[in-house]
Amino acid sequence: MSLDYTSLLLAVGFSAACLSLTLFGMWLTARTERFLLTWAISLVFVVGDIFVYDAYIDMPGRLLGIAALAFLLIGFSVMLGAAYQFRTGGSPLRHTMFGCCSLAVALPPMALGYDGLGFMFENLFAALLLFATAFEYWRGRDEAPALTIGITALYSATAASFALCAMVLAWDGKLVLGHAPSNWAEELSLVVVIASMTGIGALSLALNQGRLARHHRRNALTDPLTGLLNRRALFDMHGNVPVGAFTAVVVFDLDNFKAINDEFGHAAGDEVLKVFASELAGNLRQTDVAARMGGEEFALVLKRTLPETVEAAAERIRTAFATRLIETETGSLTCTVSAGFAFGSKEGLSFDKVLSAADKALYDAKRGGRNRVTASPLRRAS
Ligand code: GH3
Ligand code: MG
Ligand code: MG
Repeated sequence: MSLDYTSLLLAVGFSAACLSLTLFGMWLTARTERFLLTWAISLVFVVGDIFVYDAYIDMPGRLLGIAALAFLLIGFSVMLGAAYQFRTGGSPLRHTMFGCCSLAVALPPMALGYDGLGFMFENLFAALLLFATAFEYWRGRDEAPALTIGITALYSATAASFALCAMVLAWDGKLVLGHAPSNWAEELSLVVVIASMTGIGALSLALNQGRLARHHRRNALTDPLTGLLNRRALFDMHGNVPVGAFTAVVVFDLDNFKAINDEFGHAAGDEVLKVFASELAGNLRQTDVAARMGGEEFALVLKRTLPETVEAAAERIRTAFATRLIETETGSLTCTVSAGFAFGSKEGLSFDKVLSAADKALYDAKRGGRNRVTASPLRRAS
């Protein structure tokens, strides 16, 4: 069975419609991924173009020509907006509007009966919009290089096929055609579209799934109240690595925190936790890691450091926190924190062991009267 141009065109139309529906369905299950909706809308226009263009092939008329041209350029403009939205999370509107400016150049010749010139512009702007879309993915290639480069290549191939169509029409030089362009470039372009649309669909969905998976993983490792890493993340990072002699673990525990909750309410307690977390985060070097271990307990892991430096850092955090007046809905308050720290050893100690040594030192700090930093005797082993 041999397939003619129109059958292939309609097949592209149906598969674009299915892709649009799939994207819409995916957006319904993940509403925050708004680019899926934008992309689904762009395909609605492309599908519109395909069916109108199919009608135009049978009955070349000015109105159908205008509608086909408008659908295609609007569709590709929205697609460019969707790519920008995917890369940056920003609104797709500006890119879409910018793309739609192409209508100002391409529509008048079509409306005035110069369909040859109209189709030339249509193909030229379609190519430019697709190249711009490819460029958006190229700019976002750091996220998942193999997938984004694949998508870039497929959009570029499609763009090149539209550029070829424009070039062939320009070469013929006919300003008035009176029918749909029919040449080898049109047929090649249709084949390229068939091949790349499936690829773009599959790669883009894989790209988005990867992004969602990373997002969920980040959520699973982040404490929602303070934005710091949680206990699980800290153990993922350090739990199985022997702790060397120049690595320290500091544990902090807010003093008499229960009394703050009791007096000012739980929300005020949460505010205090956030303030302490920001104090911790503000005192980190790039290699340091801070985590909320649970409740009002926090931990710091400091690498390539010395006891004096650790003590000074913990003291700095302790004093800064103690002197801070914390404004809450139920009143202003101050709070203090106690800390204990321990080092690993030359041979390497288990993370658990260093953490519990730091915990013991913290317990000593509490017994010593709170609002102080205490070193574990273990550090002398290093
Ligand atoms: P100490 O100085 O000995 O550490 O006394 P403390 O009152 O700080 O310690 P305790 O363990 O008795 O109380 C800890 C309190 O922390 C009890 C719990 O209700 C509160 N807490 C735990 N998680 C949260 C939270 O996410 N938000 C708020 N507001 N309170 C919390
Ligand atoms: Mg506690
Ligand atoms: Mg406490």
